Amino acid sequence: MSRVNVMLPYLGEEEVEAVAEVLRSGWVAQGPRVAEFERLFAASMQAEHAVAVSSCTTGLHLAMVVVGVGAGDEVVVPSFSFIATTNAVRYVGATPVFADVDVTTGNLTPETVEAELTDRTKAVVVVDQGGVPVDLDAIRAVCDPRGIAVIEDAACGAGSTYRGRPVGAGAEIAAWSFHPRKILTTGEGGMITTSRQDWADRAHKLREHAMSVSAADRHASVLAPPETYDEVGYNFRMTDLQAAVGIVQLGRLPEVVARRRELAATYTKFLAEVPGLRTVIDPAWGESNFQSFWVEVGDAYPLDREGLLERLAHADISARRGIMSTHRQPPYVGVAAPGSLPVTEHLTDSTLILPLFHQMDETQQGRVVDVLVEAARA
Ligand SMILES: *Cc1c(COP(=O)(O)O)cnc(C)c1O
Repeated sequence: MSRVNVMLPYLGEEEVEAVAEVLRSGWVAQGPRVAEFERLFAASMQAEHAVAVSSCTTGLHLAMVVVGVGAGDEVVVPSFSFIATTNAVRYVGATPVFADVDVTTGNLTPETVEAELTDRTKAVVVVDQGGVPVDLDAIRAVCDPRGIAVIEDAACGAGSTYRGRPVGAGAEIAAWSFHPRKILTTGEGGMITTSRQDWADRAHKLREHAMSVSAADRHASVLAPPETYDEVGYNFRMTDLQAAVGIVQLGRLPEVVARRRELAATYTKFLAEVPGLRTVIDPAWGESNFQSFWVEVGDAYPLDREGLLERLAHADISARRGIMSTHRQPPYVGVAAPGSLPVTEHLTDSTLILPLFHQMDETQQGRVVDVLVEAARA
């Protein structure tokens, strides 16, 4: 019996060939492939503008900068997210304020957001946690009239839909991840999409040291024009090697999402009758890509979450604890009032993420289901 991983990237010969072609071209840093990937990604996600960056974390950082978040500002974020969501707030010297999430979706709601708004709130970061689309319109309805920017952390969201459109399409600004744990990968990499030309222009410059002329443009001319550096910028660039992989991966996305949804439906079907287990589902307003297929282990189940993880590990199945609670990590201890995030803590403590990847076959999925069902009978 071989190990069943929680996730495997889905990469093929096309990606290998795309990288080889970039290597042969001699232009390996940010250049034409990055520009092409941006065009294709924006079109695919129904976004006006796309800015490729080195990761979702740097994308969130840049989003904070172009939105104008800084010292003295508060930013409402879910604690129930990968820590980078909150770290981005600290990078610009602002203060994170944690809001609780909905127990069914694992996402912020208009109610949990509204409860945390103050005169100092500059922005709210909403997350499509594990690929489950957040109810963006409802949260924007609370924030837009107050002039509060909503930044969508769509790190897990590629291929998920919200009200019939790709997630992120309805956001003023969104950040995406292409880490291998996500379903479209470039090794490392990220993207910002935005409806605002001014934010896109500034992000394009800031990711490249705020240089007035891009390195690709300078290279294209024999006599390079003089450049200026209009503010303190960053090196958050993606390489053409990564973008070439991203272009191929983007083409695979519909097939990958269809397969993930098929596997998720199989889990849902076989686990529906197991007392004490509750699986993640599509919300009323959209469809998940099931980037993370999580299960809540309730009191009616004979094992607790840790016990079930051990049982799975014993069968050589690598599941994972659910999404973290950022407010429990050292940099953020004391930020949330004790007891103020009950749903976040409950989900962090009681959920686990089951293996789900494109290449997963029936036998592998059957092994996972068998462990869950048999442990329930014991
Ligand atoms: C993975 C993830 C990130 C970080 O993405 P990187 O590309 O690794 O920087 C940020 N936010 C969420 C919600 C994530 O899941």
